[in-house]
Amino acid sequence: MSRSINLIVIHCAATPNGKALYKGGTRTAAATIDVWHSQRGFRRDTVAREAFNPQLYALGYHHVIDCDGRQETGRAHSEIGAHVAGHNANSVGVCMVGTDKFTQRQWEALHSQVRSLQARYPAARIVGHRDLSPDKNGDGTIQPSEWTKTCPGFNVADWLAGGLQPLKSHLIEAAA
Ligand SMILES: [Zn+2]
Repeated sequence: MSRSINLIVIHCAATPNGKALYKGGTRTAAATIDVWHSQRGFRRDTVAREAFNPQLYALGYHHVIDCDGRQETGRAHSEIGAHVAGHNANSVGVCMVGTDKFTQRQWEALHSQVRSLQARYPAARIVGHRDLSPDKNGDGTIQPSEWTKTCPGFNVADWLAGGLQPLKSHLIEAAA
């Protein structure tokens, strides 16, 4: 099964900045968010789950990046995610643990993750979740007043314009 992917959507987990979700063993960030998504009623397709990361029953994202820079996969790219209203069918979702400040290792991991997604989907637009909020006044740009949520907590366009380097005002030193 393949689908057409033309959007790469960056998210944050809305968890404390710099606090890794990894709790040892199999209790990874992806496994932790999987429980939360399960509680919210998300559910992966059984066949897709059995084929890829069968331990994750609900997780809506395709990639998760914890505070120590650990990169995990969630859903397969061939599987429609559950991370952005109205755009799941044609997108891949990447989630950064934290809310609006991230560690150097996380920024580096996001850089390499997005570069690899760009190589795979050269035509895809890279945006933050909030950039896909409805354009209420129809002027063609999504202003802060139109954000349905603030996720991923930083301006993805600024980050892209800066060559995928950490945004200083959104950088923290080390994971707690
Ligand atoms: Zn989001």
